[in-house]
Amino acid sequence: MATIIRPKNIMEDLVENKLGELMRSADMCCCERCRADTKALALNKLPPRYVVSVGGEVYSRFQELSTQNQVNITAAIMAAIRVVRQHPHHDAKYA
Ligand SMILES: [Zn+2]
Repeated sequence: MATIIRPKNIMEDLVENKLGELMRSADMCCCERCRADTKALALNKLPPRYVVSVGGEVYSRFQELSTQNQVNITAAIMAAIRVVRQHPHHDAKYA
């Protein structure tokens, strides 16, 4: 089987890792739509961080993230949560 080598934005994984916990503690709707909206908003506020992933292997790069990056990611998710909590799109028929 060929090894898949591709650029990957690890910011997506980092946001995904924190998203569920922060949304649950925010006392907001956690449906799939609200989750996707929150993730998209947070990612738009964060700089993409591409690494080359070889067969899904990017974990060593996770350790390199500074505390400041972690703080920025949490802040971006919290800001996105405030927006989605006030204006949930889960009843909208359009994207
Ligand atoms: Zn919802």
